[in-house]
Amino acid sequence: MYLAFVYRLTSEEVLDMFDVETVRADFPILGHTVYDRPLVYFDNAATTQKPRVVVEKIEHGYYNVNANIHRGVHFLSQAATEGHEEARRRVQRFLNARSASEIIFTRGTTEAINLVASSFTEAFMRPDDEVIVTAMEHHSNIVPWQMQIGRRGIGVKVVPVTGSGELCLEGYERLFSRRTKLVSVTHVSNVLGTVNPVREIIRMAHARNVPVLVDGAQAVPHMGVDVQELDADFYVFSGHKVYGPTGIGVLYGKEKWLDRIPPYQGGGEMIASVSFEETFFNELPFKFEAGTPDYIGSTALAEALGYIERIGMEAIAVYEGELLAYATERLLALGDVRIFGQAAQKSGVLSFLAGRIHPYDMGLLLDRLGVAVRTGHHCAQPLMKVLGVEGTVRASFSFYNTREEIDVFIAGVERARTMLE
Ligand code: PLP
Repeated sequence: MYLAFVYRLTSEEVLDMFDVETVRADFPILGHTVYDRPLVYFDNAATTQKPRVVVEKIEHGYYNVNANIHRGVHFLSQAATEGHEEARRRVQRFLNARSASEIIFTRGTTEAINLVASSFTEAFMRPDDEVIVTAMEHHSNIVPWQMQIGRRGIGVKVVPVTGSGELCLEGYERLFSRRTKLVSVTHVSNVLGTVNPVREIIRMAHARNVPVLVDGAQAVPHMGVDVQELDADFYVFSGHKVYGPTGIGVLYGKEKWLDRIPPYQGGGEMIASVSFEETFFNELPFKFEAGTPDYIGSTALAEALGYIERIGMEAIAVYEGELLAYATERLLALGDVRIFGQAAQKSGVLSFLAGRIHPYDMGLLLDRLGVAVRTGHHCAQPLMKVLGVEGTVRASFSFYNTREEIDVFIAGVERARTMLE
């Protein structure tokens, strides 16, 4: 797929080179049946399935390269350390970060945001200073900031969302004040699929000397991300949403910020020296990695990133875009369906309500037909309030899904309507 970049292929040519059946063969779980029906996995925004190479990397790590890292002089420890640090360099290349020391391994997006919320506010925010978030954030980009309201007396302002599910940029601009110290925004909404104009959002914040954290949990699996090109100050994502293991994620931060904010947790690894009189913290990135890191998970995450790079981020974006367009068209053709999120720039997330059917009933019925979708508020209750609903049904697509699976899903929605309406 690298050819696409070398020869500037059209979308059709990129699609021609993409073979979904070959890709599906890499994911053993996709061959499973549930209730005697082929599994149709449309819950990819919650977590993605794992290709064989990722699972094998974990197995290989524990069977062959397992020793605690960084402090060992022995062979195995050095091999494990090298694996972990090579994984960090791979993430650096994947995000095009300037330096590997700007890549911090965390447990996931949630922990990465909590780290910044705690350490950045401690270093740079005084009572009444403000953070700007948006109405389409996942709870993990709301609650950590709210916790700082109680702890440090900061304020949180909220960018409104338009009827089509896009951010209101005029509203965003109006929220800035002398007290604004940080903007924290999702790159892609996990409910609406909206791809936010983060480059523009960052440009507007930087014009006022305000840094920006981007929650990339729903972006990294679907599109190429270049943190230098975006000029993001912090960028975070989770391994498990990008075909890697659970329990590992990434915080990218510009060195100038990471150097100036205090450690999040204390313990081993994050120190240079400890005495009861005085403790000195380690250099980046170790200052933020207290305790034994998930050195097997990091190598498996790197394997996952390599896997999707081999498929090609452009091919993934084009193919998933086709799936979304097909599913949207077929769903709308049923009539009496509300789709939440009609932004011009969308990733493969389809949130909807069909007629008067409760999302849970729809989810349960689809499940019996082998179709896994998510129902409820999707950890975005403030957004549900804006949308005026308690929850939605969400189908979210990956490059390993097919049009035929969408047909099964649509037939299921139709069936639910004949049974439940
Ligand atoms: N941010 C967004 C946009 C998400 O979709 C999610 C998970 O659904 C998260 C953050 C939280 O990710 P995690 O639970 O992996 O920390």
